[in-house]
Amino acid sequence: MARVLFINAGSEGHINPTIGVVQELISRGEEVVYFTIEAFRERIEMTGATVRTLDGQKFIKAFISGGRNHLLERVNGLLHTADIVIPTVLEQIKGEHFDYIIHDSMFGCGRLLGQILKLPAINSCTSFAQNKISFNSTLEQLSQNVPTEILKKINDDFQNLITQMKEKYDVEINSPYEVFCNPAPLTIVYITREFQPFQEVFDQTYKFVGPSISLRLPQKNFDLTTIKGKSLIYISLGTVLNKAIDFYKLCFKAFGNTDNTVVMSIGEQTQLGEVGEIPKNFIVKNYVPQTEVLQYTKLFITHGGMNSTNEGLYYGVPLIVIPQSADQPIIAEQVTNIGAGIQLQMQSLTANQLFDAADHVLNDPSFQKAAANIRESFEKSGGYHQAVDEIFQFKSQLNI
Ligand code: UDP
Repeated sequence: MARVLFINAGSEGHINPTIGVVQELISRGEEVVYFTIEAFRERIEMTGATVRTLDGQKFIKAFISGGRNHLLERVNGLLHTADIVIPTVLEQIKGEHFDYIIHDSMFGCGRLLGQILKLPAINSCTSFAQNKISFNSTLEQLSQNVPTEILKKINDDFQNLITQMKEKYDVEINSPYEVFCNPAPLTIVYITREFQPFQEVFDQTYKFVGPSISLRLPQKNFDLTTIKGKSLIYISLGTVLNKAIDFYKLCFKAFGNTDNTVVMSIGEQTQLGEVGEIPKNFIVKNYVPQTEVLQYTKLFITHGGMNSTNEGLYYGVPLIVIPQSADQPIIAEQVTNIGAGIQLQMQSLTANQLFDAADHVLNDPSFQKAAANIRESFEKSGGYHQAVDEIFQFKSQLNI
């Protein structure tokens, strides 16, 4: 048995794929101490891990303080979160021994903690993998339109922050890539290799284990018997950038009083009262048991978050992807390339266009077929079982 320190300060999409991994680690005899924010305590405790918490409000505040307009500003924001994460983790594990660390690829300063604690590290990557070359090329591309004086200020902030980190925590930071992607000797990526753009640039330290989908906490507020046997459309923009009242109203206009039953998750940032009158064929909730709803769904209209996309395809559901930000435009491209759905643009979207697109995807069997093929490849990929096989392989190489 080894003791595992798990660091993950991310949002729901960063947490969900790790649940099965932790459950599996524990069932194979590992002891896991998992640092996260209070909101995820219950679902992580359910795995048998010991949960310790970080201050989520302070974390977000620190992250945002770096700026939100440019990728490098987000890198600086992540560096600001070090002062929220590192002291509290070190304080809470004082005197304890750990054998290795698993950390989120973005949130929680995992690479820095690994350095400070001198622990073998495993990177848990819930989106596309990035290596130094792919990250630098993205950064270069995104920096092209940033005025020189702004870029200089952001770069100066970065240099100052890494100097401060060195002084405070005695850690080496050599590039924005290290801060944004937290590279480690083993990276677990929760997609299949075929779904990864430029897959050939990733060496054997990247393990593409496919979607890691496990049992969720039962949701008391949703009666699944009401959607069984219906021609169901499910709509969700995920858990982060989901305050989109106009879009929700547009969905009412597109599908209200049609033969379809529509489940729509509007997120916790929008009150049910804000979306206006709800058509009779809609079930609207702030949060739904997505992986269960998808099992009854014929069409998933999604923002193209990596988890939502994985989950939809895992259950063989064709998608309409309406990307909002981050990696979502690339995910939308990949979905289109494999033929499992189409993409639409939020800015110019009309109710008629959405209705026609849904009609097209629902009635052209090629989408269903492509989704079924991907489902098969996802099932074969191993998910969290494979992730833990890779972790144990890594352990045995290091004699842990
Ligand atoms: N989710 C859910 N119910 C909801 C909305 C979202 O269970 O009503 C879950 C969904 O299953 C997925 C995660 O929240 O695992 C969202 O992650 P994703 O990467 O798709 O998007 P993000 O929220 O990070 O934008």
